[in-house]
Amino acid sequence: MGNNVITPREHVKLRKEFPEYKTTQTLKLKSDVVIIGSGAGGAVAAAELSRNGWQVVLLEEGSYFTPAEFTNDEFLSYARLYRDGGNITVENFSVGILQGRSLGGSTTVNWQTCLYPSLSTTQEWRDEFGLDGYDENEISPYIKEVSLRVGAHQVPSKLINENNSVLARGGRILDMAPEILKNSSRNCIGLGRCGLGCPINAKQSMFLTYIPDALKNGARVISNMRVTKIKDGKKKQVYATFEADPYTKYSENKSIFENIEIEAPVVILSAGAIEGPALLQRSDLGNEWVGRNLKLHPTAAILARYPKKINMHTGPPQSIVIKENKTKKETKDYGFWLEVAPARPASVFSSIPLYGADSFKIANDYLYMHAGIALVRDGADGETQGRVEWEWGKRKVHYTIGPKDGKNLLRGLSKLAQVQTEAGAIELIFPFTEKASPYPVQKKNNYNWILNQDLAPGRMRIFSAHPHGSIQAAASPRQGAIAPNFELYGHSNIFVMDASWYPTGLGVNPQIATMSSVLRASRLLAKEKTERL
Ligand SMILES: Cc1cc2nc3c(=O)[nH]c(=O)nc-3n(C[C@H](O)[C@H](O)[C@H](O)COP(=O)(O)OP(=O)(O)OC[C@H]3O[C@@H](n4cnc5c(N)ncnc54)[C@H](O)[C@@H]3O)c2cc1C
Ligand code: SF4
Repeated sequence: MGNNVITPREHVKLRKEFPEYKTTQTLKLKSDVVIIGSGAGGAVAAAELSRNGWQVVLLEEGSYFTPAEFTNDEFLSYARLYRDGGNITVENFSVGILQGRSLGGSTTVNWQTCLYPSLSTTQEWRDEFGLDGYDENEISPYIKEVSLRVGAHQVPSKLINENNSVLARGGRILDMAPEILKNSSRNCIGLGRCGLGCPINAKQSMFLTYIPDALKNGARVISNMRVTKIKDGKKKQVYATFEADPYTKYSENKSIFENIEIEAPVVILSAGAIEGPALLQRSDLGNEWVGRNLKLHPTAAILARYPKKINMHTGPPQSIVIKENKTKKETKDYGFWLEVAPARPASVFSSIPLYGADSFKIANDYLYMHAGIALVRDGADGETQGRVEWEWGKRKVHYTIGPKDGKNLLRGLSKLAQVQTEAGAIELIFPFTEKASPYPVQKKNNYNWILNQDLAPGRMRIFSAHPHGSIQAAASPRQGAIAPNFELYGHSNIFVMDASWYPTGLGVNPQIATMSSVLRASRLLAKEKTERL
C-alpha cells in the first residue's frame, strides 16, 4: 500500500493485495495491534509501536482531508470534521461538546494551545490514584519530545490578534498577570482557520506529524471505518463498518469494503472520552468505571462589543491566558482560566441567548465582537456527575455542572466581564438565558450579580472542547477502569490511550498532556513485544 492512508478510493488496491477478497464485502486482516481512533492518543501510539517493529493497523471513523480540501464554510466543515456536526448535546441540553471526527481527530480542528497540567494535578494523580510517572522530572522528556514534534512555541507578538489583546489589556489593568500561550504550529501566518482545518499545513495536527511517522514505519492507516465492537479473547477481533463522508461521491463504490474485521493480540482504544466508553460498553468490556466521572472543563463565553473592529476570526485562536490560581493558591487549581474563543459568525449566531432584532444586530456587528471565555477544571466536588452510557443502541452523554465547579465558573465570568469592561467594551452579551438582551456597559459596572446566577440546566449556555477522564486510570480497579499502564482491568492486552484516562480534572489544555502520556505508555508497551504478542 505504500505510505498512503487507505481511504475508500484505495480499497480497490486492497482488493488487489488480497485477491481472496476480490468480491466479498468484508476484508479480514491480521496484525500485532489494532488502534482505534487517530487523534492525539491513537496517532502517537501508532507511530511509537510501528517504530518499534510492531505491525500496526490504525482505524479512523472520519475521513482523510488534505489541507486543500479545508474550507471557510462553517456548515460544511462542522459536518465533515466534527462529531455530531459540532454539537454533541448532553441529555439535559445544558452543554454542547466539540469533538473532532476526521483523520487526526480533534487535533485537526483544535485551537493549537499547548499547556501541561500543573504540579498539584499530577501530585493528585500520584497521591490519590497511585499513578506514578507524571512528576515534572519524569514526564518532561516526553513533553519535550512531543512539543518538538508539533512545533510548540510561544506565540510571537506580531501574531497576537485583537481578540487576545483585549484579554491581555484588561487583565493587565486588573493586575491579573496575563500570560502568553504556546501554540503547535510551524510558519503560521494567522489565517485563523484552525477550527475548520488549517489550509496551509501550519498547525501541526496529527495527520501532519505522528500519522505520517506511523505510515513511514509501515503502519496501515485506514480512514472511514467505524469500529462497532471489540471481542476479547487470546486473539482479539475488531469489527468495523464503512462510514461515508456525506459530501464525497465515491465513484469506486463497488470496490469499497463495507466491513473490516481484524484479528490481533493487542487492541488500543483511542476513540476519545465520549466514544471510547460507549464502544467498551457495547462490547461488554470493562468494569463499572467505564463511562463514569466524565469531565469537560465546562466553559462559558461572554461576547463583548467594542467600538473598533476586533476581527476575532483572524489570527491564531488563543495566545493569552489568565489563570486565577496564579494569585489564589488556596483554590488548589480548581479556579478558573480566562481565554478567548475564535467564534465564527455561524457559531456566534447560533449560541447567543438572544432573539429577534437583538440577535440579527449581533450577527451584523460580528466584526466588532470579542468572545472571552471562562473555563474551569471540573471535579472540585469529587467525582463529577458526568457520564457516558451506551443505551438502547445509542451513545448518551449525561452532565450537570457540580456546585463548586459552577461557582468557580461564575467567578470566572464575573472577572471576565470586568476584564472586558476595563478593555473598553460598550456592551456585553451574557450566556445566561435570563439576561436575554445586550447589557450596556457603564463606567462603574459591578458584576457581583453574576456570582448568584442559577446553574440549573437551561439557565446558562455551557460548552466544552475538552472531554476527558471517562475511562479513568488508578492503581486499583476499585478506583478506576484501567491500570497505571493503561490496560483495561479484567482484559489483558486491551489498552486505552487517549484523553479518557485522567482520574481528576486535568487542568488547562489536554493535547500535549494526552500526547506525552500516551507516548510514555506506548513506549513502555513497545518494550514488552515478546510477552504481549
Ligand atoms: C474545537 C476544539 C478546540 C480544541 N482546542 C485545544 C487546544 O487549543 N489545546 C489543547 O490542548 N486541546 C484542544 N482541544 C482538545 C484536544 O484536541 C483533545 O483533548 C485531544 O485531541 C484528545 O485526544 P484523543 O485522542 O482523546 O481524542 P481525539 O483527538 O478526539 O481523537 C479520537 C478519534 O477517534 C475517532 N473515533 C471515535 N470513535 C471511533 C470508532 N468507533 N471507530 C473509529 N474511530 C473512532 C474519532 O473520529 C477521532 O478522530 C480542542 C478540541 C476541539 C474539538
Ligand atoms: S492561524 Fe491560520 S495559519 Fe495559523 S495554524 Fe491556524 S489556520 Fe493555520
